[in-house]
Amino acid sequence: MTSMFDLITQLWFLRRDIVSDDYDQALQRLAQEVPMTIHEYPTGEPCWTWRVPEKWTCQAAYLETLDGRRLLDYAVHPLHVVSYSLPFEGVVSRDELLEHLHVHPRLPEAIPFVFKYYQRDWGLCASQNLRDSLADDAYRVVIRTSFTPGALKVGEVLIPGASDETFVLVAHLCHPAMVNDDLSGVVVGLDVARRLLAGPRLHYSYRLLILPETIGSVAYLSHHEGLIPKMTAGMFLEMLGNDSPHALQGSFQPYSQADRCLSSALRGLDPHGYLGAYRGIIDNDERQFNAPGVRVPMLSLSRVEAPKESGCPPYPEYHSSLDTPAIVTQARLEASRDLVLGLIQAWERNQYMVNRFKGEVFASGYGLWVDYRVNPEGHRRLFEIMERCDGTRTVADIAGELGIPFQAVWEVVAQLQEKELVDFTRFPQVDGWRL
Ligand SMILES: [Zn+2]
Repeated sequence: MTSMFDLITQLWFLRRDIVSDDYDQALQRLAQEVPMTIHEYPTGEPCWTWRVPEKWTCQAAYLETLDGRRLLDYAVHPLHVVSYSLPFEGVVSRDELLEHLHVHPRLPEAIPFVFKYYQRDWGLCASQNLRDSLADDAYRVVIRTSFTPGALKVGEVLIPGASDETFVLVAHLCHPAMVNDDLSGVVVGLDVARRLLAGPRLHYSYRLLILPETIGSVAYLSHHEGLIPKMTAGMFLEMLGNDSPHALQGSFQPYSQADRCLSSALRGLDPHGYLGAYRGIIDNDERQFNAPGVRVPMLSLSRVEAPKESGCPPYPEYHSSLDTPAIVTQARLEASRDLVLGLIQAWERNQYMVNRFKGEVFASGYGLWVDYRVNPEGHRRLFEIMERCDGTRTVADIAGELGIPFQAVWEVVAQLQEKELVDFTRFPQVDGWRL
């Protein structure tokens, strides 16, 4: 079993443009780690309101002075050419060049990641430092790219559970020569899948999708409409290797069981983690799952220093040549993997509690009583939780009502179940309620 970090070092420098040979190569490598079905959608294939783009290949791209001194070269770094750039060869004036030469808005020494999948244009990318040094009147540009019929590929790993209700994990494998966005999410998802496959059978089924950003999600969903009603929740994974706190972004349906469960569970699993509203932290493939006609409550887990409203980038090296293995560690990937596994454990445990008792439980008779003089908080919690075990509330509902972590409720209800005071059920039981 290759470690998450070793997979990153093997795959990160591949030119993983959305439909490309290197993307396919990376997916094939991941398929050696887990049983994976690879779905293919040919160029031109309609996917709801979208179409699968052509395969894009860059044979060569460079910028030279007129006396032949090479200033930047795609052979040295894949980010030197705009992803999906049109081919172009010729001598251009400095002004014309600068219109097509992209730089990073904040990092003067970095090459930016620029993509123009659907607005056709030619373009090169350089550091601000290089751009500032261009003083000649004209330069030679060479961009040899081709657009050919190909196939967009989506890797699917299924972990079948007792139920066909499915929790979907999604990460995107595209982005040439970058790591944290989003190879980190891919390897964390893959390692979660490896562990779920090796563990005991779960109640829910789990489906990991590894795909190119946006169009990959649309292609998969539009070709699996029959699965959508069974997708009861999901989580998008990205930016999980850098040194920032975990951020859990809610779904478009903030009152869903998935939102209640995962957000209350995060509080118990990671005291440094924080919550954000839908689109409040990051915008990515979770949008396709939350969108009209799909409406899967899909949250997003990432490591982001501050919510989007702060105006900060998700992390300093975002969309640049500085997003390398140097900003990612195996320990942080493992911490994120364990957090995902903890959230999944909460999702499995998030059932309704049906009372087998009537009235208030004789706590000391069942050995449950907590001495309020020693532990007033524990005493109050026990009664607050017991009185909510009435068949209408899940563990997450109670955690939300009381403003406490999922795990704090679980500790109490697991004890109640052990004493045969409550039953767990996947559906609400409303008998005996006077509304
Ligand atoms: Zn990105």
